[in-house]
Amino acid sequence: MTRPIQVTIHTAALQHNYRLLKAHAPQSRAYAVIKANAYGHGLVRTAQALADADGFALLEIEQAQVLRELGFALPILLLEGVFEPSELMICAEQDFRIAVHSELQLQWLEEARLKHPVKICLKLNTGMNRLGFVAERAAELVLRLSRNPNVLSITLMAHFATADEPDKGIDWQLARFQAATANLHLPFTLANSAALIDYPQARGEWVRPGIMLYGSSPFAERSACDLGLRAAMSLTSRIIGVQEISAGDAVGYGASFHAEKPMRIGIVACGYADGYPRHAPTGTPVLVNGQRSQLIGRISMDMLALDLTEIPTAQIGSHVELWGNQLSIDEVAAAAGTISYELMCAIAQRVPVATD
Ligand SMILES: *Cc1c(COP(=O)(O)O)cnc(C)c1O
Repeated sequence: MTRPIQVTIHTAALQHNYRLLKAHAPQSRAYAVIKANAYGHGLVRTAQALADADGFALLEIEQAQVLRELGFALPILLLEGVFEPSELMICAEQDFRIAVHSELQLQWLEEARLKHPVKICLKLNTGMNRLGFVAERAAELVLRLSRNPNVLSITLMAHFATADEPDKGIDWQLARFQAATANLHLPFTLANSAALIDYPQARGEWVRPGIMLYGSSPFAERSACDLGLRAAMSLTSRIIGVQEISAGDAVGYGASFHAEKPMRIGIVACGYADGYPRHAPTGTPVLVNGQRSQLIGRISMDMLALDLTEIPTAQIGSHVELWGNQLSIDEVAAAAGTISYELMCAIAQRVPVATD
């Protein structure tokens, strides 16, 4: 038998979540954001599951090329644009859309001699202060781009910093975007998952959902289940050892956990080298044979410990769900002091992946 840890990607859940977001934004087209190996779900596997999407968005041109080679003809947007001028030729040949966020990228686009003009997303900085031109330069830049024979069309693009935080919202950025672009009458793409769910005025021609596709909630205060989302990834394993301990006994590295009473401890084949967060503390939820239990002590590289005291039927071979259909990844992430995005992306190479 092989080591029992496994990731399962739920194709039907990806498709369900895509349909759900389209129902939220019926007037918009959607770039399914599949950067970072589709948030750990696998680039090609996810693209195949979402082959009916309006478009894909990702970062590396090599990955966009892989999708074209596999026959995906739909729009593909490079969210950070090109990293060197030679990539512009490939964009023109393969019909990739590109973000243009810096003066340098703008110059490359002016100096290039492309066989076909490209569609660009002019990225404006409305307060995130990460990538993009100062929003107030929009009119001047659009004029400059409209004179560039390498540019086929312009969509305005910006990104929200606090769409997932109801008390901060998007108005502070949206007002700036609207003021800077009011007279341009161009299509726009602004919304990540949180914005597309909560702010109809931000949807525009294209939305850019990522996390919701994977069945996790973009909001700290609202569960994926309440939003109608379904988990696209399950991380499961099995119990490979059982220890009966007495009051006062310790568990794991650092002997950081001490039992207050006699306990039954299960050892699971899953550790931080599989991508499970090492900072998940004692008390983090885990499911054993469908019943809730909790982590005990520190996470090791290849194993973790959980409490079987109340689950007497559990034994070596019992099924463990670290997150997935029955235990939300959001709950595990919150317990570990992080967000689901990080957990999904951290799944290690050594973990076998199945699809259902
Ligand atoms: C990652 C990303 C998104 C998707 O954000 P989610 O919060 O996962 O929906 C959208 N737009 C840009 C520019 C991104 O980098």
